[in-house]
Amino acid sequence: MTGTKLMEKIVSLAKRRGFVYPGSEIYGGLAGTYDYGPMGVLIKNNIKDLWWRMFVLGRDDVYGLDAAVLMNPMAWEASGHVSGFSDPLVECEKCKRRFRADHLDESGICPECGGALGKPRQFNMMFKTHVGATEDESSITFLRPETAGGIFVNFKNVVDTMHPKMPFGIAQVGKGFRNEIAPRDFIFRLREFEMMEVEYFVKPAEWERSFEEWKEAMHAFAEAIGLPEEHLYELEVAQEDLAHYSRRTVDFEFDFPFGRKELWGLAYRTDFDLLAHAKMSGTELSYLDEEAKERFVPHVIEPSLGVDRTVLAVLASAYREDELGGETRTYLAFSPKVAPVKAMVSPLLKNKPELVAKAREVLAELRKIHPSIAWDDNGNIGKRYRRQDEIGTPFCITVDFDTLGERPELKDTVTLRHRDTGQQERVAVAEAGKRIREALA
Ligand code: ATP
Repeated sequence: MTGTKLMEKIVSLAKRRGFVYPGSEIYGGLAGTYDYGPMGVLIKNNIKDLWWRMFVLGRDDVYGLDAAVLMNPMAWEASGHVSGFSDPLVECEKCKRRFRADHLDESGICPECGGALGKPRQFNMMFKTHVGATEDESSITFLRPETAGGIFVNFKNVVDTMHPKMPFGIAQVGKGFRNEIAPRDFIFRLREFEMMEVEYFVKPAEWERSFEEWKEAMHAFAEAIGLPEEHLYELEVAQEDLAHYSRRTVDFEFDFPFGRKELWGLAYRTDFDLLAHAKMSGTELSYLDEEAKERFVPHVIEPSLGVDRTVLAVLASAYREDELGGETRTYLAFSPKVAPVKAMVSPLLKNKPELVAKAREVLAELRKIHPSIAWDDNGNIGKRYRRQDEIGTPFCITVDFDTLGERPELKDTVTLRHRDTGQQERVAVAEAGKRIREALA
């Protein structure tokens, strides 16, 4: 299947099954925005939750934070975003379409209409807004383009309240906004998106070791969410392409259906941000090493992971088509940990109260293992299975007359169907629960 065809299928499945809808769809959409539906929000939450567990809860040296999206505009002046957070914009003199100059070849010709392109100019990507009732220069602020800003301005708060030992990190998950010149590729390049970031503060001499450790942690996260390692590449970003705050960046690229593109980034931000915020705010932002009796400005390693690009990478690598029972079927081979629904329970027939009651009992039992267990009694069993395949549910459990004891030796057993093979087996309810628990371990 070609990349374009695969993308069409993913976008269509995402809409059909409630993963991702175009933003403001009934008004014709809003470029660069998408809305997550019932399945989308589940998978997104699973990814964020796994990240939080691995990068925050599972470690002793990382502290969580949830800072405001709106910040004092001085913070964005200090960080260099007001003057430097821009992309080169070119406009076609004929069709007036706008492009990012660094995404085009050097021919100077419009890729859409063949017209001549104008001169590139820098376009600042921050969204401006006004705070309060006055709409003049003094009330202007920005929607944050990265979550890092909120972390740096809270550095002193976290140090003063948590007394962390070096090295330590502050982590945050939240929305970021960038007025991208050309949003595209579904949820890959958005104007409103979500990020998972850690600012990890180290002694200046130790940045290289820490950089390597975070690289490993990012690979471990890819594995935890089921991204195939063979489609993940590290790209050493050339000096001339580095962001204004970075001295070294490794992009984690991924084979998306539309090509190999940046999925995540790992940057060495030096002491750039703490020094800049200290200077602008007049507040000392440094760390006192009690043992060495030495005060210094820590350096920073920043693993930065886009949630939406991660969702897309997970969707693209899980998409499968095969033939089952003589029919083609589509399924999503999600790792159980990221699958929106862990299992589906259904009564063989919906008009038999005793079957429905027993199936409800099984459902209640299994929800003690994980709350995201679905109920489905619509249509015939085959259709229910296909629906669950399309949302990537690893297990389907069917309650029938044997579960009720029609054949006494099969009492309290159910049919357990496996998504990837379509195979079914007869197991006790408790065994089905055990399988779900193991798959999520
Ligand atoms: P690109 O070069 O693709 O514009 P970037 O290098 O500007 O991305 P970073 O500033 O490193 O991106 O942002 C950190 C992470 O945030 C990226 O690795 C990506 O996962 C995510 N991200 C950045 N911009 C967008 C966007 N417009 N839409 C969705 N996710 C994004």
